[in-house]
Amino acid sequence: MRCMNNGNRNRLSLRLLTLVLLVGAACDAPAAGRVLQRLEFIEPHMGALFRIVLYAPDADTGSSAATAAFQRIKALNRIMSDYDPDSELMRLCKQPAAVPARVSNDLFDIIRKSQELARLSVGAFDITVGPLVRLWRTARRTHTLPAPEAIAAAKQRVGCQKLKLDPSRKTVTLLAPDMQLDLGGIAKGYAADAALAVLRQRGIRSAFVAASGDIAIGDAPPGMAGWKMGIASPAGDDKLAATVLLRNAAVSTSGDIEQFVDIGGTRYSHIVDPRTGLGLTDRLQASFIARNATTTDALATALCVMGTKRAIKLADSLPDAAAFLVRPGPNGNETTASRRFDKFRAPASSLPKK
Ligand code: ADP
Ligand code: MG
Repeated sequence: MRCMNNGNRNRLSLRLLTLVLLVGAACDAPAAGRVLQRLEFIEPHMGALFRIVLYAPDADTGSSAATAAFQRIKALNRIMSDYDPDSELMRLCKQPAAVPARVSNDLFDIIRKSQELARLSVGAFDITVGPLVRLWRTARRTHTLPAPEAIAAAKQRVGCQKLKLDPSRKTVTLLAPDMQLDLGGIAKGYAADAALAVLRQRGIRSAFVAASGDIAIGDAPPGMAGWKMGIASPAGDDKLAATVLLRNAAVSTSGDIEQFVDIGGTRYSHIVDPRTGLGLTDRLQASFIARNATTTDALATALCVMGTKRAIKLADSLPDAAAFLVRPGPNGNETTASRRFDKFRAPASSLPKK
């Protein structure tokens, strides 16, 4: 674990971040008569950098809370990784079709939430998309499009209706043979929420956990209205598309800024449209704000699939939620905000002068 007590606090970027922290409180802050210290910790997990920023009464308290939070993330990765053939998720996928399998509470919980979010996004977010994701991983390596027959065969094994859950027995049944569940679009958000919960259990309330572009946010820094986060421009320049001020909320950004493949001059995203079986070619970047990072991670991915009109409609239909969409074009970024997005925008007076 790397502790960054005195590091660069302004716009520290994590693997070309889609969301960047602009400013926390610049100095240690008094709260309820005591001085709280701002501490920062970074560790790699789940193929991303996890960054924890927290306020604690002293360095030991902060450091041991961060260690416990990282341990929780590590344990979740052992359950949910699709790169580790021995993870609980991969063992579940090896079960024969139509046989209920008992799973751990965490695995059941994330699959149950995934199914809810699949319904909410009308199948745009779908963790059964694994067989298609695997075809696209090969396409990325070989720079060759998957054959239409391979996509059609993979689609036989995809569809959230092919997954059956029994909440009383905590069992999962895969109804088709050779299904592959892929939690890549939700696990980082789930882990960020779980890590923030560990910090809270240890009495640390002013904190956030950023799993690359998926951020779970607790109370504001002492004496401040919230944590200021910048939404990066998909053009890959250093400009921000928007800045938000958040507390007790979460924000995620998805898009093809980091992960894509160029085949024959077309850019395909690592996000797959489950209906077509193809990687997205629409270069929409979607940021989603809601109560927790499990929801924002999954729905930011879903909004990219849904396109501007349906994405805004979904965001407007959910309480405490907002979306911000950015499409890079020849004349710069085209942005669309949902109805409630302005509520989360950082006031202009709080932004650094250009
Ligand atoms: P990142 O991992 O870059 O933060 P996302 O949160 O958008 O990006 O997740 C993308 C990952 O989700 C893909 O790499 C893949 O594992 C998985 N995935 C791709 N398409 C879908 C989809 N339609 N529904 C659910 N998961 C998806
Ligand atoms: Mg996601």
